[in-house]
Amino acid sequence: MMAVMTVLLSGNNMEKPHYKEWSVDFNGKIIKVTNWWNLGEMKGSAETDDLLLENLRDEMFGEGYGRSDWDNFWVSIDKSDRHDTENTIFFKRMLQKELPIEQRQKILSNLFERIVGRSEVDVANELYMSKSDLISLHKRGFTIGSHTASHRWLNSLSVDEQKNEIDNSLSALESIRGGLDNWIMCYPYGGYNEDTLSILKANNCAFALTTKVCSTDLSIQNKYELSRLDTNDFPS
Ligand SMILES: [Zn+2]
Repeated sequence: MMAVMTVLLSGNNMEKPHYKEWSVDFNGKIIKVTNWWNLGEMKGSAETDDLLLENLRDEMFGEGYGRSDWDNFWVSIDKSDRHDTENTIFFKRMLQKELPIEQRQKILSNLFERIVGRSEVDVANELYMSKSDLISLHKRGFTIGSHTASHRWLNSLSVDEQKNEIDNSLSALESIRGGLDNWIMCYPYGGYNEDTLSILKANNCAFALTTKVCSTDLSIQNKYELSRLDTNDFPS
């Protein structure tokens, strides 16, 4: 399955172990909040962070990096985050965009095998929805949008690479929804740049969601740079 999708609106309880829904009073309006994965359940421990960093460092040393390279990465990476610790963010950024993609893929699959002890494909099949799951959700009134093809930071890619990411995800989206009218975009990690905005416009994207935390005002905000609230910001 190419595109990882964002579910914006949900109707009924899917009877999944990680699914939760609740109502909150937001500026006088009662809104329903739905969340598949709650941060409380997902947070690792300090020992897990240390284990991941140790393994990452070993892998990088195996690729020819030295201690000073590691220290330089540590200093240059912005490790501020609303939810994660510095160690977690460092680990994520190194494997999301800092190292060259071939090294990232190799290191990730080594770490996955060593730490999880199962095949990545098996776990992905269990964890992610299949194409037929998504078609079924679409038929039941859920909104399915694009989240690119391979979930990379779009603002770290060339224009052509960004076009490929978006084109491939649109082909998948079209085969799920049967068309592309009013399609919406959600930037992986909230990363985008001027090139992304032009590509969306050329493809008649209806609107796009960033990771800027704020309620949005449709009359004044650029429709491709909408802010939003995380479900984890609403107390349950
Ligand atoms: Zn994502």
